[in-house]
Amino acid sequence: METIKLKRGKENLLQRRHPWIFSGALAHQDKRLENGAVVKVHDFRDRFLAIGHYYNSSIAIRILRFDEGKIDLSFFIEKIKNALKLRKALGLIDNEECLVYRLVNAEGDGLPGLVIDWYNGVAVISASSAGMKLQENLIVRALKEVLGASLKAIYSRHDEKDGKYLFGKTSVPHLVKQYGHSFLVDWESGQKTGFFIDQRENRKKAADYAQGRKVLNAFSYSGGFSVYALDGGAAHVDSVDSSAPAIELAVKNAELNNLSENHHGIEADVFDFLTNHKNEYDMIIIDPPAFARSISRRHNAVTGYKRLNALAMNSIGSGGILFTFSCSQVVDNRLFEDTIRAAAIESGRDIQLLERLSQPADHPVSIFHPEGNYLKGLILRVS
Ligand code: SAH
Repeated sequence: METIKLKRGKENLLQRRHPWIFSGALAHQDKRLENGAVVKVHDFRDRFLAIGHYYNSSIAIRILRFDEGKIDLSFFIEKIKNALKLRKALGLIDNEECLVYRLVNAEGDGLPGLVIDWYNGVAVISASSAGMKLQENLIVRALKEVLGASLKAIYSRHDEKDGKYLFGKTSVPHLVKQYGHSFLVDWESGQKTGFFIDQRENRKKAADYAQGRKVLNAFSYSGGFSVYALDGGAAHVDSVDSSAPAIELAVKNAELNNLSENHHGIEADVFDFLTNHKNEYDMIIIDPPAFARSISRRHNAVTGYKRLNALAMNSIGSGGILFTFSCSQVVDNRLFEDTIRAAAIESGRDIQLLERLSQPADHPVSIFHPEGNYLKGLILRVS
């Protein structure tokens, strides 16, 4: 294992237990180091600090452990066991009504760069760091060991594009249940790992507000919010997404739950759609993709969120409800709320903040890594 030394004073960063070390903290750049290598981190006096995955970029090291030890099979087994234990405590294991959950949430479960979603017998791995990609074989062995016979297949999704089965094989779309609602999930060609598990609790909230309302589910993807809103007694739900396969899935999912009578799937750009539908809805859900993937794009993202939300506010009739979300990691709660305030001013509508929303407990956040709190939402009433 190679050792990387930090500049004098930078060891303080590790005392705060933040799992990232930025390249500026390294004493020197070692050209021989392979991206994804497991490295030891030492302070300027050569004292041991931590072990992590190296990558030649702004986030240079992602910390895996603060004690001396190996990053081997038993390391992954222990982490995955611990992750499973939490999901058990949350009542998500062997729950016929909820056959889908996030098993490993990267930094939140002590495994930076690794997400594993569970779809009723199939584990879908999404490794976003070179280090986790290089250790995929170990991760597969650890999953088999921890999950045993309940595990039918493992699929690996790289960079949200290519994927392959690393163990077993199943056909897609695959049927899962979330709070008793049925959904078809396609991890081979769908977005992310196939389904947005993180909106589970917020969809339930949407059902609570939907009774008797005409609802627009904007950026609907496979219709998660639509199915819940229809089940919650919505008078009608329009699902709008610019992706044809997404709308196809949303329509199928409404049918699957016998809720298609009052559902309409529309393939359209949300910005155009809102511009052409003023004052038409009693409730709108806005759940766009991350507008900013890095700090440098943050300003543009904020401008986008502001415009989008002002449009949405003006497509809502008096007394209507707006569920608005941002999943951009670089836009924090404060900035998001400020942006929504700016949108309210632009729209000229009076807005009340009813509830603040976040990500569910199977997407835990390490207290030392506040950036892990990526999903932010607000429930607003538009006068
Ligand atoms: N709310 C969804 C997840 C949304 S993901 C759920 O609960 O499952 C974001 C979606 O926005 C994707 O399906 C993507 O196809 C869609 N999208 C991105 N840009 C868009 C645009 N300009 N207009 C309409 N849909 C868009």
